[in-house]
Amino acid sequence: MKSKYLQHIDSAELRRQAEEIAWVKALMSPESLEGQLPEETRQMLHELRVHQIELEMQNEELRRSQLEVDATRARYFDLYDLAPVGYCTISENGLILEANLTAATLLGVNRISLVKQSVTRLILKEDQDIYYRHLKQLFETGKPQACELRMMKQDGTPFWTLLEATVGKEVNGTSICRVVMSDINKLKTLEKNLIIEKEKAQEATKVKGEFLANMSHEIRTPMNGMIGMAGLLLDTELDNEQRYYVETMQESGEVLHVLINDILDFSKIEAGKLEIKMLDFNLHNVLDNFTTTLSIRAHDKGLNLICTVQPDVPDYIVGDPRRLQQVLTNLVGNAIKFTHQGEVAVNVTIESETDASVVLRFSVQDTGIGIPEDKIDHLFDKFYQVDSSTTRQYGGTGLGLAISKQLVEIMGGEIGVKSEEDKGSEFWFTLSVTRQQEHEITKLQSSVNRHVTHGVSANYVKILLAEDSIINQKVAQSMLKKLGFQVDIVSNGKEAIKALKMNPCDLVLMDVQMPEMDGLEATRLIRSPDSGVLDRSVPIIAMTAHVMTGDREYFIEAGMDDYISKPVSFESLEEMLGKWFKMQPEEKTKDSSPAGDTLKTAEPLVLDREILFKNTMGDKDLSRELITLLLQEIPKMIELLKESIDKGEVSDASFHVHKIKGSSANTGCMALSGVAARMEEVGKMGKLDEIAVIIPELERQFELLMSRLKDAKDYILD
Ligand code: ADP
Repeated sequence: MKSKYLQHIDSAELRRQAEEIAWVKALMSPESLEGQLPEETRQMLHELRVHQIELEMQNEELRRSQLEVDATRARYFDLYDLAPVGYCTISENGLILEANLTAATLLGVNRISLVKQSVTRLILKEDQDIYYRHLKQLFETGKPQACELRMMKQDGTPFWTLLEATVGKEVNGTSICRVVMSDINKLKTLEKNLIIEKEKAQEATKVKGEFLANMSHEIRTPMNGMIGMAGLLLDTELDNEQRYYVETMQESGEVLHVLINDILDFSKIEAGKLEIKMLDFNLHNVLDNFTTTLSIRAHDKGLNLICTVQPDVPDYIVGDPRRLQQVLTNLVGNAIKFTHQGEVAVNVTIESETDASVVLRFSVQDTGIGIPEDKIDHLFDKFYQVDSSTTRQYGGTGLGLAISKQLVEIMGGEIGVKSEEDKGSEFWFTLSVTRQQEHEITKLQSSVNRHVTHGVSANYVKILLAEDSIINQKVAQSMLKKLGFQVDIVSNGKEAIKALKMNPCDLVLMDVQMPEMDGLEATRLIRSPDSGVLDRSVPIIAMTAHVMTGDREYFIEAGMDDYISKPVSFESLEEMLGKWFKMQPEEKTKDSSPAGDTLKTAEPLVLDREILFKNTMGDKDLSRELITLLLQEIPKMIELLKESIDKGEVSDASFHVHKIKGSSANTGCMALSGVAARMEEVGKMGKLDEIAVIIPELERQFELLMSRLKDAKDYILD
């Protein structure tokens, strides 16, 4: 029954449904209804269909766009979450609105727990100020802000972060802050380590410097004893063999001394510790100083040392006189060393000039062995010598030019060389200096005058020697006595002051490093108004081996007047004291004359006491003996010379002039020796008549020598 009923329903329903489908189909294809529908309806149906198709297409497009948006969103979230930096958005009142995964990982929390949390709670208390300051500025100025501070992980571990923040707006118009957080903990640790390493390196350099300074002191003190004692030993009676040994010992000591100085200078330059001091000085004096020392060496080799300064070169300039002298001494020393005949010429000119400064050009030209072209490029390298046999033949370390180059460059100049093998070389360097102010010139002149006022005879001069080492005391005392000075000895600064309160003295030789009270402190006290010493302005000469921290100008700044380097040699002591006490009136005038176009040939002196004393080690008796002998011998030699000229014997004549040249040079009679040397030169060319022409000049020089010796009788021949 039931099925019958169902059948009935089904068929009716099915029929209805079939009709509906047919109707829809017909609707979907209006052509099929052709003729059944009115034209108007058919048209509408057609348009509806077109619309439907369009909608379907748009729908498809929207679906695709949605897919793309979904993919981009997914990508963005991947990037946002996995970015190597933390990212979060913060509300104006400092609450985190959202954060990426990296931010959560950095802070060691889960991301959800970050939301609505106050940022302040994540920042180390000590650094919260930094955060507030920058946040305030960010909202006030709208400008991006960045700061480094320490945040905390959930477990309280602090870590360094770099926060970079910009201001933005929410959809509802409220301001927000977008913050990028970078973990800079590693960088900070590295930075901290670097600072520690740098401090360690600086400390090591300091220790190295101090070590060098101490070593230099330790090496120089016994060297001082050795060289000084060898000098004194040479003064005693020795046979030839013994003299040879002692002389070798002394020479080796001096070589070692130079070597140590060079190495110390070089280490100082390499450690960037070499200081250039800008001081007011007189160029004229610097040139005088170094030509005086080197002219002896030049004379020993029969060379002329000429120093010319162009008239427009300023005398009173600002620069580092000590370093200038060091470079000049290196270059001229080399020129003398590598020249066998002819001359060494130093020339100072102006290369360029502005209102404020002058670029000076110093040139050192020689007629020596020259340098092969292919070696020139390496000349200024350290430890370089043109050929390995140089050291054996000429000595040296190969450091001189390297040091000179560094010094010139530190002083802002340039150095160079032109050379031709077997013809000679020209080493040159430039130096930018400034002219001194007018009042500074006056100051300098008055200090020069002060030196001059101390011109008295050595016999009446009392020197106070402050020196703690007994060996050094003995060496200096013997030398001073040999030079004819009276000496009082004390062994520290305190004793020096005590002595100066009780006994007047003309000059103090003050060791710098002494126990109880060092030389610098003692000097300061002596100069102070309430020192209580008899003469507060007594000249004080520093004696020091401490080259790392001290130099002439440094001691002068401390109130000392001059500086002498240890080990103190007889020559340097004589030269120094000569500067203070032995200036003869005519020498003074010569000194204070303007430089002009001076031709400072270290013009041979009629009697060069320095050379005489050098050769006799200051022994007055021996000096007297030698001079007396010379005065007897020279007339005989001149007679023999005249005879050989009469006989036309060039080689005999040359022999005699050679003898005259040698014996007069050995006794410091340099002018006479110079004339004889000229005669010898023309003799070598076989020009007998030219020798004869010079004889009257030779005789005149001899007469001049005799009269000069009479003047100097008190000093040498008393
Ligand atoms: P040192 O003279 O102590 O060996 P330097 O650095 O002063 O060291 O000189 C390096 C080398 O340059 C010398 O060994 C020498 O070969 C060469 N030299 C320097 N000056 C001259 C010069 N005026 N004439 C010839 N050669 C020179």
